[in-house]
Amino acid sequence: MIRTGIGYDLHRLKKGRRFLLGGVEIPFSKGELGHSDGDVLAHAVSDALLGASALGDIGELFPSSDPAWKDADSMLLLRNVYARVKQQGWQIVNLDCVIICEKPKVLPYREVICNSLAEALEITPDRVFLKGKTSEGLGAAGRGKAVEAFAMCLLETTSSGFQVKQ
Ligand code: MG
Repeated sequence: MIRTGIGYDLHRLKKGRRFLLGGVEIPFSKGELGHSDGDVLAHAVSDALLGASALGDIGELFPSSDPAWKDADSMLLLRNVYARVKQQGWQIVNLDCVIICEKPKVLPYREVICNSLAEALEITPDRVFLKGKTSEGLGAAGRGKAVEAFAMCLLETTSSGFQVKQ
């Protein structure tokens, strides 16, 4: 059985914060504002995995009202999500992601970000891809006020214990 999942996230950009994508810090004058470390890509990937496996969403599992997740390392949250997904018998076939921001350029960091995600998710880097897009100067991302991320994943299971509803 195979299932797809989609995740989306947006974070405001603010001076004095780190700009993190998939656990990789990119040198920039601003970074993601958030209750956690604000890693917009880690959040979108987490939601894609949770969506595909119907195990909830990150707002539900790691609520921003909970002080436990203050300044949390989002890659640890992603590893926690992956452990839940794996426990249900799912394996990741591939993961495809889009980052939308006016600056900085994402392409120079593609390889290191894909490697970082692949390591956290125990897959080879060729199963992960990432594109950077601008927003043509439009909207919050276009004005440099925010960064957005989309992630889509495909999961497969060979677990005989998984019940397929007919
Ligand atoms: Mg978020």
